[in-house]
Amino acid sequence: MRQYELILTKNMMQPGYTGLREEYERAGGYQALRKVLGKIPPAGVTELVMKSGLRGRGGAGFPTGVKWGFLPKDYRGPKYLCCNADESEPGTFKDRQLMERDPHQLLEGMVLAAYAIGAETSYIYIRGEFVLGARILEKAIGEARAAGYIGTNVLGSGITADVWVHRGAGAYICGEETALLESLEGKRGLPRVKPPFPATHGLYGKPTVVNNVETLANLPHIVDRGPEWFASIGSPPKSTGTRVFCVSGHVKRPGNYEVPMGITVRELVYEHAGGMRSDKPLKAFIPGGASAPFLTPEHLDVKLDFESVAQAGSMLGSGGVTVMEEGTSMVWAALRLMEFFYHESCGKCSPCREGSSWLTQTLRRILDGRGRTTDLDTLTELCKNIAGRTVCAFGDAEVAPIESTLKYWRHEYEALIKAAAHHAVDGHGSGSGLLMPAGRH
Ligand code: SF4
Repeated sequence: MRQYELILTKNMMQPGYTGLREEYERAGGYQALRKVLGKIPPAGVTELVMKSGLRGRGGAGFPTGVKWGFLPKDYRGPKYLCCNADESEPGTFKDRQLMERDPHQLLEGMVLAAYAIGAETSYIYIRGEFVLGARILEKAIGEARAAGYIGTNVLGSGITADVWVHRGAGAYICGEETALLESLEGKRGLPRVKPPFPATHGLYGKPTVVNNVETLANLPHIVDRGPEWFASIGSPPKSTGTRVFCVSGHVKRPGNYEVPMGITVRELVYEHAGGMRSDKPLKAFIPGGASAPFLTPEHLDVKLDFESVAQAGSMLGSGGVTVMEEGTSMVWAALRLMEFFYHESCGKCSPCREGSSWLTQTLRRILDGRGRTTDLDTLTELCKNIAGRTVCAFGDAEVAPIESTLKYWRHEYEALIKAAAHHAVDGHGSGSGLLMPAGRH
C-alpha cells in the first residue's frame, strides 16, 4: 500500500497524542500564528490561501480565499467567522475526529482566518450530538486563551480574536450555512433565500464567512509551509492538498483516511480500506456523502478530486465514501437515504417538504411488493419537479440517490414492480423480500 505524508491527521496518529496545548506546541503548533501576526497583513494571508488553491471541504468545494475576498473591504462594523462543525451527512465522520483529536489545529486555523477577514468574534457551530467534541473544544479554547492565542491582544499584537462554541440541536439542515446562521441567532434553523449571501448579510446581518472544520484546519499548514507546497499536493491546479475520506459500508477497514486528492477510488477502497469485507464484488459506492449520486464499479478508477468525480456524474461533497457489495438492493438503499431526507427536510418549501414524502411513500410501496407500473414515471417526475426548485440545495441532494439508482439499476425497480403485478394476478400476495439484503426486516 502506498504511504502518503499526513498533514491534518499527523499529530493524532502519534502514539499517546492527546491534543493538549503543550503537545500541539511541541509538534510545531501555533508557529503559523506567530509567523503572521505583526508580519503579514490580513490581505496577505488571504492571498496565501488563494495561491494554495484550498477549496472548501464541507460539500460545495468553493475556493476558500475567493470566499473571504467577497467580504466588503471598507466595512467598519463587526464581521464574523463561523466554523461549520455540524457534520451530519450520512457516511461522514472526519470533522468529529479532527475536533476531538487535535482541537488546537482547528483553533489556530480559526484565528488565522479571523485575522484575515477582520473578525473579532468567531463561533464554532457544533452538531448537538457531538458532546465529547464540544467539551474538548471548550477545554482547548480555555488553554488557548490562557496562553494568549485567543482573546484580546493575541500574542501582544493588539488583535482581538475570540472563539465561542455553540451547540446545535441536531438538525441536518443546520449544516446549510444560512440555516446555521439562523440557528446561531437563536431562531429555528431554516435556510435563507439567497441572495443576499452571508459575505454581506450573514450573522446578525453582518458580513460573515462560514468555513468547514477541515478547511480551517488546513490553514496553519498553508501558512507554515507555504502555498506553493500545498498547491503541489493532490491534483493541481483545481484540487490541491489532501482530503480526509470517511470510508464506510461493506469494507474490511472502515475509517478516516487522509490521502492526497486525486488517488483513485480503487486505491482508497482496496488498499487503504482493505477491500470488500466478504470478498464479494463491489456493486455501488457513494463518493461524497448521502447527497452525492451513486456510482458503479465502472467508476473505480475515477480520481477522487473535484473535477473527476463531477465528470463521472457525482460529487466529492463531504468526503463520505460509502461502499456497497454485490447483493445489496439498490431500491432499498435509495429508500434508506430517502427516509433520512424525508425526516430532515425543514419544511420551508413545498417541493422538498411534500416531494420527500411522496418519494418515500412510492419507494416503500415498490419495496413492499405493491409497486405500480406507473411508479417509475412518478419517481422521475417528482425528482424533476424538486431539483433546482427549492430554497436550498437539499432538494438536489434528496433526488440524487433516486435518480442515480434509476439510471444504473432500473432493472431492480422493474423486477419488483413486475413481481408485484404477477402476485396480484395469481393471488400469491405481495412480492416483498425480493432483492432485500439480509437484516432489512
Ligand atoms: Fe427546507 Fe428542503 Fe426547502 Fe431546503 S429544500 S429549505 S431543507 S424544505
